[in-house]
Amino acid sequence: MNAADASREQALRTAVVRTARALAERGLNRGAAGNVSARWRDGFLITPSGIPYDALQPEQIVHVNMQGAWQGAWKPSSEWRMHRDIYANRPEAGAVIHTHSDYATALACRGEPLPAFHYMVAIAGGEFVDCAPYATFGTEALSRNMLKGLGDRKATLLAHHGLICYGRDLAEAFLIAEEIEGLARQYLIARAAGPVKPLPPDEMARVLEKFRTYGQQPKGRKHASRPETSDDDV
Ligand code: 13P
Ligand code: ZN
Repeated sequence: MNAADASREQALRTAVVRTARALAERGLNRGAAGNVSARWRDGFLITPSGIPYDALQPEQIVHVNMQGAWQGAWKPSSEWRMHRDIYANRPEAGAVIHTHSDYATALACRGEPLPAFHYMVAIAGGEFVDCAPYATFGTEALSRNMLKGLGDRKATLLAHHGLICYGRDLAEAFLIAEEIEGLARQYLIARAAGPVKPLPPDEMARVLEKFRTYGQQPKGRKHASRPETSDDDV
């Protein structure tokens, strides 16, 4: 690897650590729950298994190739298969985030999808966010179920487990994970107050069309509240 590549890899490792820490700081994960990765060369850079985020260091981030092989002193996340299968099946995916965030997980523990109760559900690229059937953590079966749950969307709930989503980069994946957690919270609050009617499919189709260009500011202008997860320079 040449010096430029080595420095890009280092920047990406740091961005993965920052994203994992930001998830903990925003209450989306705690302890070692969940995991984060970013696509890199012939595979991806992923958080190690079982290391609490506040102790995480860039050198502990593990490079895993598309066959699942890795080297070094640190074992990759037990969920490397889900991350690998997203990169293998979604060429546009640059980063993957898995959380056990409270409200998304509460809904997933009921085995329920997140319906079009609010137009922002379209942030995941579809009319709803599905809930994939349960399988043991870290297994191929869970990854197969996850791909079915994703369908053509960027996020899925995982029954009795949590949420997984992807974006073109770490910042987008973070935005989706945080938004879906907020939506799951709003949905459970609204439903506790009474029945909630979903938006009709033709309205969600309009929203999805508008989302294709929504929020696109002139190049180089970033939103002030964007978390410190950027891998733009990589
Ligand atoms: P890892 O610490 O192995 O990433 O596992 C956390 C998790 O969320 C398993 O589903
Ligand atoms: Zn998990």
